[in-house]
Amino acid sequence: LFAAETDFLKGVVAMDGLPPADRVEVCFAGRSNVGKSSLINALTGRKALARASNTPGRTQEINFFTTTGGPFLVDLPGYGYAEAPLPVVEKWQRLLKAYLAGRATLRRAFVLIDARHGVKKVDEEILTLLDTSAVTFQVVLTKADKVKDKDREKTLAQVRNALSKHPAAYPELILTSSEKGLGIPTLRATIAGIE
Ligand code: GDP
Repeated sequence: LFAAETDFLKGVVAMDGLPPADRVEVCFAGRSNVGKSSLINALTGRKALARASNTPGRTQEINFFTTTGGPFLVDLPGYGYAEAPLPVVEKWQRLLKAYLAGRATLRRAFVLIDARHGVKKVDEEILTLLDTSAVTFQVVLTKADKVKDKDREKTLAQVRNALSKHPAAYPELILTSSEKGLGIPTLRATIAGIE
């Protein structure tokens, strides 16, 4: 899986723009700067693939990527930046809610959390939205290379504790570093195992 080819399909701004739900899909969510583009690029082995979704104008779109014979990879816009005007934010939140609640082929959301910081207030909003949408989510900890060995267990405990309050949480965490390639094969295998 992914070894073959991953390609940008389209950016979606409204529900009627979604591609046909003809295959399984997984989505990626995380606050801005958490390392989402880097992770998607590491995952697919394509250096600049997810950069498009970080360019201005693209930031409010749901970006779809195709994988050969595999699921859609869906890049949700980074949250936690208050710089967008309120009507834009509200329009985006409506789309996000509609997508999460209404996409029958969406099997799992990977929620990216900075391994140095753990689950923050800004993350709780999306976790709650996933709970209410009944979308199973799995936390992927990013930038693990920046966490000292002695701090690792403490962060993992904080994240596990935060997740215990979320019924839609998948218990297994995936610790990754896009920089070092850590955990990337595990994430790839996890996605490949989703039917
Ligand atoms: P996004 O806004 O969530 O898409 O985040 P980016 O992928 O653009 O990454 C944000 C910043 O974090 C960039 O400066 C990256 O180089 C850095 N970064 C991303 N992943 C890692 C990682 O695994 N380790 C380290 N040390 N830095 C990372």
